[in-house]
Amino acid sequence: MELWYTENQNDHLRLSCRVNETLHVEKTPFQHLAVLDTPGFGRVLVLDGIVQTTVWDEYIYHEMIAHVPLNTHPDPQRVLIIGGGDGGTAREVVRNPRVGSAVMVEIDERVVAAARKYLPELSSRLDDPKLDLRFADGIKHVAECSGEYDVIIIDSTDPVGPAVGLFSREFYEMVFKALKADGLFVAQTESPLFNADLIARIYRDVADIFAVARTYLACVPSYPGGMWSFTMGSKKHDPLDVKPENVPALKYRYYNAEMHRAAFVLPEFLRELLERG
Ligand code: SAM
Repeated sequence: MELWYTENQNDHLRLSCRVNETLHVEKTPFQHLAVLDTPGFGRVLVLDGIVQTTVWDEYIYHEMIAHVPLNTHPDPQRVLIIGGGDGGTAREVVRNPRVGSAVMVEIDERVVAAARKYLPELSSRLDDPKLDLRFADGIKHVAECSGEYDVIIIDSTDPVGPAVGLFSREFYEMVFKALKADGLFVAQTESPLFNADLIARIYRDVADIFAVARTYLACVPSYPGGMWSFTMGSKKHDPLDVKPENVPALKYRYYNAEMHRAAFVLPEFLRELLERG
C-alpha cells in the first residue's frame, strides 16, 4: 500500500509527496502538528496541513533568512527570532560568529519538543549558550520592546492562526520601535507566484515605515512554486552595500557572498509588482 501526504495549495492545485511513515501527530493548543518520514524529502514538519520545513532542503531557507540580514548589519550583537520552532534559523544565527546573543520567541512549545525529538539536524543548537529560548507570543514580546535589537528575524508560519498579526502593518511599526537606531528586520513573505497581493502589501508597508525596503528570493523546492520571498526593512544599512569580506567564511550550502547580492535581483513581474505598489 502507498501512503501519500497532500497539501491543498488552492482550489486548483494540490502538492503531494510519498510517505514512509507518520512519526508524530498532535493537536497543540495553537495548531495541528505532524512529522512525516518521506523517501523524497526525509523528515517533514507539517503545521495545519502546510509543510514548514524538510530535512532535504531546509538549509536553503534557513541560511537565507539568517545570514542575509545578519551580514547586512555591521555589528549584529543582539538578535531576535520570532517563531522558528524547528530550530533551523536559531542554528544559523548562533553559528554566525558576528552575533553576540539571540532571543527566540516561539508561541508553541510543542513544535520545539517535536523538533528536538524528530529533527535533530535542525534543533541541534537550541541549547546553545548564545540563545535564550522563550515560549510566548512574538507579537506581545515585540510590543514590549523599545530600541533593543540590532536584527529581528520573523520565521513564522503562513498568515493564518497565531501568525496573522505577524504580517500586519501595526506589527512592522512595533518592529521598528523594538530595533536600535540602525537596526533591521527580515520576514519570510511567502510565494511571489501564489501570494503576489500579500507581498505587494507587505513591501508597501515596510517601505512606508523603513528607510530601506528590499525583497529577496531563494529557491525552496518543498514550498509551493519553489520560489520563496523574504522582505527586509532597515533603518540605515542596505543589503546591497555588503562587502564580500564582511561575509564570514562559514561552511554554507546555499548562501555565499555572491548569492547575498544575487538574491536581490528580481524577475520582471515581481519588480513591477513592487514598483506599482
Ligand atoms: N520555515 C517555515 C515556513 O516558512 O513555512 C516556518 C517554520 S517555523 C516552524 C514557524 C513557527 O512560527 C511555528 O513553530 C509557529 O508556532 C510559530 N509562530 C506562529 N505565530 C507565532 C507568534 N505569534 N509568535 C511566535 N511564534 C509564532
